[in-house]
Amino acid sequence: MAEIVILGAGIGGLPMAFEMKENARPGDRVTVISNTPTFHFVPSNPWVAVDWRDREEIELPIAPILEKKGVDFIAVGAKRVHPERNVVELMDGREVPYDFLVIATGPKLAFDEIEGLGPNGHTQSVCHVDHAEHAKQAWMEFVKDPGPVVVGAVQGASCFGPAYEFAMIMETDLRKRKIRDKVPMTYVTSEPYIGHLGLNGVGDSKGLMESIFRDKSIRWICNAKVTKVEQGVMHVTEHDEDGKPKKEHTLPFKYSMMLPAFKGVDAIFGIDGLVNPRGFVLIDEHQRNPKFPNIFAVGVCVAIAPTEPTPVPTGVPKTGYMIESMVTATAHNIRAVLDGQPPKEKATWNAVCLADFGDRGAAFVALPQIPPRNVNWFGEGYWVHLAKIAFEKYFLRKMKKGTSEPIYEKIVMQAMGIMKLKDK
Ligand code: FAD
Repeated sequence: MAEIVILGAGIGGLPMAFEMKENARPGDRVTVISNTPTFHFVPSNPWVAVDWRDREEIELPIAPILEKKGVDFIAVGAKRVHPERNVVELMDGREVPYDFLVIATGPKLAFDEIEGLGPNGHTQSVCHVDHAEHAKQAWMEFVKDPGPVVVGAVQGASCFGPAYEFAMIMETDLRKRKIRDKVPMTYVTSEPYIGHLGLNGVGDSKGLMESIFRDKSIRWICNAKVTKVEQGVMHVTEHDEDGKPKKEHTLPFKYSMMLPAFKGVDAIFGIDGLVNPRGFVLIDEHQRNPKFPNIFAVGVCVAIAPTEPTPVPTGVPKTGYMIESMVTATAHNIRAVLDGQPPKEKATWNAVCLADFGDRGAAFVALPQIPPRNVNWFGEGYWVHLAKIAFEKYFLRKMKKGTSEPIYEKIVMQAMGIMKLKDK
C-alpha cells in the first residue's frame, strides 16, 4: 500500500485527487492537504470583483466531495515539506508521511516586492476569491464617485490574460452604468507590447488587442516597471527595448487592479534541489522532481522557462489546459512507478485561454506555447463570453461530481473543430 499525498486543492490539486484515486491500486491511500476547506474557481474571480457573481456561486466545500470519492482530506495548511524524511509538516504541528507527494500549491502572490502593491496596500487583486470580494467592495464605492483607473500586470508577472480580462470587464461594467465617460483608463504592463501575453504573442494578438484598446479608449504603457504605489498614485518607469529606463510616469488613480509576480509558496521555498530560486518546483518531462523522484508537481507551482527574454522581466502563463494535462500525466506516471515501470506520460505544453470581456471576449490557441507553432490562433467575439460562462458551469459540475473527465481537452477540441483548426 502506498501513501499518496496531494498538497493543494485548487484547479490542479482537486482534479489530481480524482484522477489519482482512479489510477491508484485498491489498497493505496490518497490524501489531500489544503489550507482552505473550500475550492474556488479562480477564473471567475474577475466577475466577483465587479459584482457579477457572488462568492457562493464559485465556491464548493471540499470535504464532502472527497469523502464521496474515498479520498482523505486534511483541511490544515502545510508549514513545510521535508523531502529528505518524506513528510509534510502541518501548521498545527502534525506530520503527514508520504510515499509519493504531488505539489499543487499554486502561486504565492509577491505583492511585497513592490511598495504599496496589493490588497494590503493601494491596489486591488483578483487572484484569490478573498481579494475579489475586497475588490468588489472598493468597486462599489468607486462607481459612486468614479475617476481614473490603472489596470495591468507588474514586472515579473506571468498571468496576463486576467489583466486584459479585468480591464475589459471593468470597461463593460462602466458602460452599463453609463459612467464610462468619467473614467480615463490606462493599462500598465511589463509586456514588451500589447498582446504579448508572456507568450511572445499568439496569432495577431498584438494587432487585435491594440485595436480593441483603441476602440475602447484604453491607453497603455508597455515595458513598464511599477516602482511604488501610494494612495491614489502609481509610480511607473517605462523602459526602452534594451531594458534601459526611458520615461517616468506618475499615474493618478481612483481604482487600480494590478496582477503581481508569482513565487513558490513558503512550504517549499528554498528547498535545495526541489525548487528554483523563485520557489517554483523543478520537474522533468514527466512532472517529476529530479532530486526527489517521489515528488511530482502540477499547476502554477511548476518551474517553466520564459519563451524569450523581454526588456522588463515577464513569465510564461500556466493555463488550465496545460494544468489538466499535467494532472493526467502525473496520475499515470505515479501508477507506472507503483507498478515498477518508468514514468512515460508527458503533459501537453499547449496554451489555450478564453478571456471574457463582459459582452464579448478573446480566445487564443498556442500549440505548442513556444513559437514557432503548429497552431497560432487568436480571435474574439461574443461566442467567447458565452463559452466562458458555459465553461465555469461545466468545471464546477465536474468538481461536484468528482470526475476526472478531461474538460479542458473536450472544450478545446470542440472549439478547435468549430474553428477548423483541429487538422492543422
Ligand atoms: P490554485 O488554483 O491557486 O490552487 C492552489 C491551492 O493550493 C489553493 O487552494 C491554495 O489555497 C492551496 N495552498 C497553497 N499553499 C498551501 C499550503 N501551504 N498548504 C496547503 N494548501 C496550500 N487559466 C485558464 O486556463 N483560463 C482562465 O480563464 C484563467 N483565468 C484566471 C484568472 C485569474 C484571476 C488567475 C489568477 C488565473 C487564471 N488562470 C486561468 C490561470 C490558472 O488556470 C489558475 O491560476 C489556476 O487557479 C491555477 O491552478 P493551481 O492549482 O496551480 O493553483
